[in-house]
Amino acid sequence: RAKQDGRNILRYFEPEMDAKMQARRTLEIELRSAVQNEEFELHYQPVLDLSTNEIVSLEALVRWNHPTRGRIPPDAFIPIAEETGLICSLGEWVLRQACMEAVTWDAQIGVAVNVAPIQLRNRAFISTVMDALNQSGLNAHRLELEITERSLISNADLTLGLLHQLRDLGVRIAMDDFGTGYSSISYLRQFPFDKIKIDRSFVSGGDTSGDSGALVKMIAALGTCLGAKTTAEGVETNDEMRSVREAGCSEIQGYLLSRPLTASDVQALLRSQKESPAIETSEGK
Ligand code: C2E
Ligand code: MG
Ligand code: MG
Ligand code: MG
Repeated sequence: RAKQDGRNILRYFEPEMDAKMQARRTLEIELRSAVQNEEFELHYQPVLDLSTNEIVSLEALVRWNHPTRGRIPPDAFIPIAEETGLICSLGEWVLRQACMEAVTWDAQIGVAVNVAPIQLRNRAFISTVMDALNQSGLNAHRLELEITERSLISNADLTLGLLHQLRDLGVRIAMDDFGTGYSSISYLRQFPFDKIKIDRSFVSGGDTSGDSGALVKMIAALGTCLGAKTTAEGVETNDEMRSVREAGCSEIQGYLLSRPLTASDVQALLRSQKESPAIETSEGK
């Protein structure tokens, strides 16, 4: 009888489950050919130094130009790319493309590239980075790799060894989405990160008196102690900018300053910054 009940439940849920799995399977197949055909494009979001009011780097964010479905955002395919291992070849493309585009920029600013946990579990990753630097001619000091706490959960020793090798090349290492993991602070003891990116969930609201505001202050102070820069992610309003500045963050990134830009919009922005350096972030905006 229990068996029969189970079957009924299964029959009830089956069609929906099936459709979801089919859609996923299709996406996986399409993603595989997309990697082969290089159907991707990088957009770049500026990061502003709060003490100089100048753009100091740009974060590369991948987009999939799907032949029939248009532009697909990373949250819709990065998780699948990670599960299938496709992120390794996609990540290699992103790295090479970001380095190649950054050398053409009109300013010697940094370029930040997101790196998924499994990429760091591959011993060959160091040579992938060296190849991207050598082939593009980009100075290693301009490359920043953004990793998340997820990278340090398993195989921490292997990953830490790799991070030190990367650092020895001159590459900078940032901790992305800080505060969203299980034991964030303990990871900061394991490696001397160059930068801590404070997750948007702590930044939105811009209320310095609330709990999030207190945490942003604490993370900024932690950054100062550890000699790391702190970047507030997802700054959308002037209030948020004011509050993270008061909290002691060194940099901001977010829609207030700019949405992620196409490669050609980046060129235009950097050219205009060269002519009139300081970005307008006046209170009245
Ligand atoms: P992330 O690395 O934390 O990147 C920041 C995300 O926040 C970007 O979303 C950016 O567009 C968004 N954002 C920036 N400012 C604001 C703001 O003011 N408000 C709001 N609501 N959002 C803001 P995007 O481009 O959709 O990327 C999402 C995530 O996908 C990234 O989060 C990153 O984890 C992942 N990702 C993107 N490109 C790559 C890549 O090349 N490789 C890997 N492994 N992951 C990537
Ligand atoms: Mg990032
Ligand atoms: Mg981030
Ligand atoms: Mg984030």
